[in-house]
Amino acid sequence: MSEQTLDNNKAIVVFSGGQDSTTCLFWAKKHFEHVELVTFAYGQRHDTEIEVAKQIAKEQDIKHHILDMSLLSQLTPNALTQHDLDIKVGEDGIPNTFVPARNLLFLSFAGALAYQTNAKHIITGVCETDFSGYPDCRDSFIKSMNVTLSLSMDKDFVIHTPLMWLDKQATWALSDELGALEYIRYNTLTCYNGVIGEGCGECPACKLRANGLNAYLEEKGVD
Ligand code: ZN
Repeated sequence: MSEQTLDNNKAIVVFSGGQDSTTCLFWAKKHFEHVELVTFAYGQRHDTEIEVAKQIAKEQDIKHHILDMSLLSQLTPNALTQHDLDIKVGEDGIPNTFVPARNLLFLSFAGALAYQTNAKHIITGVCETDFSGYPDCRDSFIKSMNVTLSLSMDKDFVIHTPLMWLDKQATWALSDELGALEYIRYNTLTCYNGVIGEGCGECPACKLRANGLNAYLEEKGVD
C-alpha cells in the first residue's frame, strides 16, 4: 500500500471528446493545477471519437492516457459498438446504446490511474438531468463508486460530477462561463453518426445538443 498522500491539486478527467467531457476538461482546468485525461477505447461506433479526443488533448496541451477496453464490446452487442444496429429505446426504458457496467469499469480504471499518478480527484461528465436511461449515470451510483474506489485502494479519492444536475442548456451556459463555448461547439463529437461539431442534426444526441444550445443562445440574447 502506498503511504503517499494523494495530490489535492491533481485531477483525472474521464474524457470521450464529446460536449460533456470536454466541458469537464475546462472545468477541471479551472479548479486544479494538474489535469490529465483518460479515454477508453472499447470499439466505439466511430473511430473518429478517439481521434477527436486525441486532437483536443493535443490542442489543450494536456497529458492523455488511452486505455484499451475492447473487452466491453466482446461482452454485449449494443448499438454503440455494433455498427449495424439502429439506436432505439427498449421496453424497459433503457436505450440499446446502454453498455452494461461501462461506467463501473471506466471509473475503476480511472481510479487505478489516479492511484498510479497520485491524483486525488476524478471527474466524470455523467448527468441525471437529461435522463438518458443509463443507471450508471445516476448520482447514487457515483457516490457508491466513490466509496468503493476509496475503500479498494485505501485512498481518499473524490469523484466530481459537475454536470450531474445540469440540463443541456445549463451545460452550454457552464461552457460559456468557462470561456469554452465556441471551442466545444465546433471541436467536440457527440453525434451518433460521427459528425464533428454541430453534427448530423438528425440523431437523438444531435437533437439534444442543438436544443440545449439554441435555448441557451436565446436566453443569452444571441441568434
Ligand atoms: Zn448526429
